Amino acid sequence: MKAIDAAEVSKRYGSTTALDRVDLAVEEGETFGFLGPNGAGKSTFINILLDFAKPSDGRVGIFGNDCQTEGVAARERIGVLPEGYSTIDRLTGRQHIEYAIRSKNAHDTNPLDVLDRVGIRDAADRKASGYSKGMAQRLVLGMALVGEPDLLLLDEPSTGLDPNGAAEMRKILREENERGATIFFSSHILEQVEAVCDRVGILQNGELVAVDTIEGLRNSMGGGTKLVITLAEIDEDTLPDIRALEGVETVVSQGDSTIEVTCTNDAKMDIIVELHQNGIDVVNFRTEEASLEDMFIEYTGSGGR
Ligand code: ADP
Repeated sequence: MKAIDAAEVSKRYGSTTALDRVDLAVEEGETFGFLGPNGAGKSTFINILLDFAKPSDGRVGIFGNDCQTEGVAARERIGVLPEGYSTIDRLTGRQHIEYAIRSKNAHDTNPLDVLDRVGIRDAADRKASGYSKGMAQRLVLGMALVGEPDLLLLDEPSTGLDPNGAAEMRKILREENERGATIFFSSHILEQVEAVCDRVGILQNGELVAVDTIEGLRNSMGGGTKLVITLAEIDEDTLPDIRALEGVETVVSQGDSTIEVTCTNDAKMDIIVELHQNGIDVVNFRTEEASLEDMFIEYTGSGGR
């Protein structure tokens, strides 16, 4: 049984194609990162899963239930942290969790334990109107966790969290996955995804341009090596020549006499030789494994920020 099974899902808003024939299967128990620059279609896909939007074509199911025609059964198994979530000003944190407990029939859940888990137990009896953005986000995550959902759907879960909060979020996602939950989350923040995901899908302009493990994406980039080269000075005229070399994927100038080149193993020497032949002094160079961010740039041509 697939946790999420999408077949040829398209969504058009007038002349805008938000999703273009997306085929995607997420296995039960996976942590799947849905990546893409802003406007790529991530929220649209999640909205279709939640039946907030209907696909123009294609269909998608959650644990075998069609998200549109069997939406109630599909949603029973989901905990959601939606994009643009909102809290109810006049209710306290505890009352929000109590509401989630009632609506999910999870009566053996202690609201304070949930608030403790998401790090806002001290604010349990304060009204949500006085919560910071990060606290509100933690509260909504707490609501999503109530009832031990089989699938956690999180749209940009770390927006609004400080680095500490983002690390706590990752810890919770890992714990939930260990309990057996499937995790599906969208993000344009690559470190978040790289740290926790088994597989990632990269969405661009509504099209799923890659779906693989991070390791697999690295391999498909021809070894996925990153060469970090420090030059005596950067000569912008010569950098295009490096870009044209066989096996070179991307060349990014860091502005401080450093360039980062993603390339195949075989291309490394050619790059150094090319620089040398153009009279550019290489002060230092080292190799690193390509990060997800490098791959993201490779696939989408943007840093995703
Ligand atoms: P992401 O979540 O990746 O930032 P979205 O799914 O929000 O991307 O948007 C994908 C595209 O669909 C964008 O071009 C956006 O403007 C368009 N879009 C999304 N929702 C609507 C809507 N309700 N009406 C019209 N266009 C929309």
